[in-house]
Amino acid sequence: MKCPFCGKADTKVIDSRPADDNSSIRRRRQCDKCGKRFTTYEKVETIPLVVVKKDMTRELYDRSKIEKGVYKSCHKLPVPVEKIDEVIDSIEAALFNLETKEIQSNVIGEMVMDKLKDLDAVAYVRFASIYREFKDVNTFMDEIKKILDS
Ligand SMILES: [Zn+2]
Repeated sequence: MKCPFCGKADTKVIDSRPADDNSSIRRRRQCDKCGKRFTTYEKVETIPLVVVKKDMTRELYDRSKIEKGVYKSCHKLPVPVEKIDEVIDSIEAALFNLETKEIQSNVIGEMVMDKLKDLDAVAYVRFASIYREFKDVNTFMDEIKKILDS
């Protein structure tokens, strides 16, 4: 993003958050050269982000995939939809805050788990069990123990 003050091509993102309309990201940027700050609103769809999957294949970032995972994990739990959306928004903002063009799918998975841990313990374990592909009961129990200890 070009600096509107001095025209330098590289500016640093210092903060990203979902805008009120929820389909764009509000970014605070700072110019490395002149130090001035400015705000941009970028449509999520126009920010290219490619997800690198375990088998090294790539696909375009898709919010609905995170949504599906989180909603499934919260199924029949006393978690309000607003809370779920908040979690997804904050995951998405954190993702775009990284300002990277490619992201490993496991990094997203870890982010989701991190947020779910604070949201609901059952949702967290559900997500983790699918995501981490627990090989046996012991790894599953380890994960539960970790929650109980914290
Ligand atoms: Zn500048």
